[in-house]
Amino acid sequence: MNILITGGAGYIGSHAVQRLLREGHTAIVVDDLSRGHREAVNQLDAHADGRLYFYESSVGDGTRMERLMLDHDIDTVMHFAALAYVGESVEQPLRYYHNNVSCGIELLAACDRAAVSRFVFSSSCATYGEPGDEHIPLTEECPQSPVSPYGQTKLDFERILAAWSTSRQIANEPVAVAMLRYFNVAGADRSGTLGEDHAPETHLIPVAIEAALGKRDGMAVFGTDYPTPDGTCIRDYVHVEDLVDAHVRAMDRMQLGTPRAYNIGMGRGFSVREVLAAVKRVTNVSFPVREEPRRAGDPARLFACADRARNELEWNTTVNDLETVVESVWHWMQQHPDGYASVAASTKS
Ligand code: UDP
Repeated sequence: MNILITGGAGYIGSHAVQRLLREGHTAIVVDDLSRGHREAVNQLDAHADGRLYFYESSVGDGTRMERLMLDHDIDTVMHFAALAYVGESVEQPLRYYHNNVSCGIELLAACDRAAVSRFVFSSSCATYGEPGDEHIPLTEECPQSPVSPYGQTKLDFERILAAWSTSRQIANEPVAVAMLRYFNVAGADRSGTLGEDHAPETHLIPVAIEAALGKRDGMAVFGTDYPTPDGTCIRDYVHVEDLVDAHVRAMDRMQLGTPRAYNIGMGRGFSVREVLAAVKRVTNVSFPVREEPRRAGDPARLFACADRARNELEWNTTVNDLETVVESVWHWMQQHPDGYASVAASTKS
């Protein structure tokens, strides 16, 4: 199939491109490189079984998206391109709404004009906001009430997709839409080619590994007074390759008609302290950990009930423990101390 992957130079998008190429699909990657890495795509190109095209562009350039869809005879769009920092979204809400909602609308309008009818969307468990304990583990039926502009943009786009789908049904040109609500995506591809390279890095596992590597002067635990067994927040860390597998299954199985949402998580919760213990076990390095106040907007417990994805997509996680997740990140970060800049440097030398 010919698949347009927006944000395909980013962390999750590049892992998706790798998987699609391995399956012999043609990957048409669009990325504005504001957060993505050209080196990630270059590396994939070098080892591709399928065909890979790269275009540096915003998805908000609807005319260009339409042209690409027509020129490449696109069957499916996988829409990863988004800004995804909760804190940044509070500081720069207009930028988030513009990028995550307005640009997405241009992309959908291009789908209409190019008659593309299959769409897989990266949504988020941030659309649930701060669910009460009675909703844990979270099913797709949990009320969606985001507490950050980031979560709101993801929910807004889910609603836009639903309205788009209805309009296309009325026009007798139905679309198939899957919306995958990610929990905490972590890990790196186990062949060692791709990894997470964010600047600044804020996610727990890479931050802890940067501390283990001595790249930062220890790290902080945000909040030790949560109503959880050890007082720290509990999250569901799904391995990025399992997450990508859910996309492939959603792409293959999604039906024309009403969009379907799926929670994608390991289905197990781990506390911040448990994650840090796993990082110390894997790296065999001790590093200073400071206890700091809670970070605004962090719910105490979030983990997925992923039964719907298991039943309808026949999806299952292959990584069900923290160590394997952490090991893959440790391996990537040791091999790429400066992220993708390490790849660029080794190609030059
Ligand atoms: N966290 C932490 N120290 C850090 C980064 C994160 O204690 O340096 C905590 C954070 O408060 C949350 C959990 O780790 O409870 C996961 O945070 P992350 O930013 O990785 O993902 P989020 O759940 O915010 O999407």
